Amino acid sequence: MKLLTPLIARSRVKSPWVYCANSGSCNGCDIEIAAALSPRYDAEQTGALRQGSPKHADILIVTGPVTLRAGAAIRDIYDQMPSPKAVVAVGSCPASGGVFSGSPTVEAPLGDIIPVDVYVPGCPPRPQEILRGVIQAAGKLNDKDREREEEQS
Ligand code: SF4
Repeated sequence: MKLLTPLIARSRVKSPWVYCANSGSCNGCDIEIAAALSPRYDAEQTGALRQGSPKHADILIVTGPVTLRAGAAIRDIYDQMPSPKAVVAVGSCPASGGVFSGSPTVEAPLGDIIPVDVYVPGCPPRPQEILRGVIQAAGKLNDKDREREEEQS
């Protein structure tokens, strides 16, 4: 297995599998994510592939301000993902609540719910920025793999 570890780490950076979760967004960011994953912006040229299950995902993309109903679901989705994993917060909503900031229906910024690796600012951010965030997160997966190996050795 040790022999395969560098290959697995490299394939993850080359081809991270992505799971998208909406934590109560207005859908503006989700539309931009759909565009980023469409043939026009072609996330697959970076190796990123959208997955239907968090159990198969390396990167979690979260939109929205994390409403009271969504908080537990986001924690659950994150816990289901295998390690190493990375989280990309898309838009100003998961970073600070954005336009929903101060609403009694918002639980907390995403960073207080699960660890966030990359913030992509904007309301909504452009598809190119979202792709850049995914590529950054893929690079972090490698760092996490290395840290984990060092801890184990
Ligand atoms: S950041 Fe803007 S576009 Fe994205 S979910 Fe929040 S309000 Fe909507």
